[in-house]
Amino acid sequence: MLLIGCHVNYKKDSQILGCLEQALRYGADTFMFYTGAPQNTARTSIDLEKVKEAKRRMEEENLLYSKVVVHAPYIINLANNQDETKYQFSISFLKQELKRCEELGIERIVLHPGSHVGLGRDVGLQNIITALNEILKDSQVTILLETMAGKGTELGSSIDEIKQIIDGVSNKERIGICLDTCHLNDAGYDVSNFDSILDEIDEKIGLHYVLCVHINDSKNELGAHKDRHENLGFGSIGFDTLIDIIYNKRLEGIPKILETPYVDSEYPPYKYEIDMIRKKEFNEHLIEDIKEQKVS
Ligand code: FE
Ligand code: FE
Ligand code: ZN
Repeated sequence: MLLIGCHVNYKKDSQILGCLEQALRYGADTFMFYTGAPQNTARTSIDLEKVKEAKRRMEEENLLYSKVVVHAPYIINLANNQDETKYQFSISFLKQELKRCEELGIERIVLHPGSHVGLGRDVGLQNIITALNEILKDSQVTILLETMAGKGTELGSSIDEIKQIIDGVSNKERIGICLDTCHLNDAGYDVSNFDSILDEIDEKIGLHYVLCVHINDSKNELGAHKDRHENLGFGSIGFDTLIDIIYNKRLEGIPKILETPYVDSEYPPYKYEIDMIRKKEFNEHLIEDIKEQKVS
């Protein structure tokens, strides 16, 4: 069964109900959102009535609320403790995010492992492990470590680094992996042979840790360490490869989330990309169609 979703916007008035409505407009089965602006930590309190209503609506649509994921804000950096105050702020803010997820009834949150910013890989990875052990002590929510492109001093751009972090985490029930196709490509993994990537994860860590996949094409070549997402079929990965990943039997039941760029920074592509995915048919006029029809 296909489980395709996309990134949607959380607004302080409509909250998760607005997220769901947006996802349904795009024909998605599931979705991912930030509980506020991704680049800051301003957050508003959660309206539990809206959570109830969203759960009810999803049940009505035969969709699984349990598969919805949150993305942690990217200003959280658990790898760098040069400034102890900032490091502690990242830890306490992520703890609050986990509490918000609990209130929302969301079971999984995607996290960028962090950047060591000059401290070196080993110190950075150890800082991440220390922080995660504190954060996950009595958590109900599972943190999914996202595989990164390896831009700058980003950690988690190899399966070995992800393994190192997971090995250090005590609460193995509450840690997982989110694969990102653009990031894997930019990190140097050939995603056209996705089974070999899954084999390596399975051998080194265990495939059951993979609980989310971000589906993005990439503006850059294999190993570019850039991290610039592209619309499906318009980048260096290509449509057929992405379709193979989306429909890979070993990833069945795992949410596949689109984080492709808005066209002209204005028009969300998701309705059209989801349509292509369901039909398994590339539309070379996608960009023009999106601009013409102006779905928001
Ligand atoms: Fe991400
Ligand atoms: Fe991603
Ligand atoms: Zn990215």
